[in-house]
Amino acid sequence: MSLLSLENISAFYGPSQALFDVSLKIADGQVLALMGRNGMGKTTTVKVICRMLRHRDGTALFDGHDLGTLPAHRAARLGIGLVPEGRRCFTNLTVFENLIAAARPGEWDFAAVTRLFPPLAERRDQLSASLSGGEQQMLAIARALMTNPRLLILDEATEGLAPVIRQEIWAAIARLKAETGMALLVIDKSIKELSAVADTAVILEKGQSVWHGSFSTLNADVTGKYLGV
Ligand code: ATP
Repeated sequence: MSLLSLENISAFYGPSQALFDVSLKIADGQVLALMGRNGMGKTTTVKVICRMLRHRDGTALFDGHDLGTLPAHRAARLGIGLVPEGRRCFTNLTVFENLIAAARPGEWDFAAVTRLFPPLAERRDQLSASLSGGEQQMLAIARALMTNPRLLILDEATEGLAPVIRQEIWAAIARLKAETGMALLVIDKSIKELSAVADTAVILEKGQSVWHGSFSTLNADVTGKYLGV
């Protein structure tokens, strides 16, 4: 059974329709790559899953619960963890305070997230504003993990980072896949890095899911047509 299932979702910003019949499924332990060029509806889909935007038509189920009836904080409590585009750490709080603010009981605690990202232990009492971009991204992922999610959503988590830091983030994603039963929804432009972790892919174009399938069947015709690569 799917942990997350979106079926024929439509969503609007005011009068302007951003999603048309979007469908996707993720099972426990699976990694789904949500792909598409800029402005095609990836972040909007994430907003619907996290209840930051209400969908109008279609069905959104998480662990059997109808997301359509839930406010955002309840969706988070069900086990949906978001690493938003642009990181959005609380810059006036320390690393430790950022992490504790998000914490819910479970295996992901301060010790566990700093085993995944050791620099955060060294920076424990520094204001997050003083961290490098890569460290802030680690903090954003760690903060989402501290909620002990069953589904972790990473929206452009490697965007704008130096190559060495990007590799650290990808290594952490690979560890989450190998060592936990967590489901992951990953939005990223790097097909090569995604291919190492993703089981399935959905491609959005102009707010519609135009391709879905096993990541290994994503070929050059498809990526050329829909992603321009
Ligand atoms: P990117 O990679 O650039 O973030 P995306 O695939 O995540 O792209 P979305 O941010 O979901 O795309 O945007 C989908 C469409 O919805 C775009 O046409 C965008 O202009 C529009 N849109 C996004 N946010 C809003 C908003 N707050 N109000 C109105 N329109 C919006």
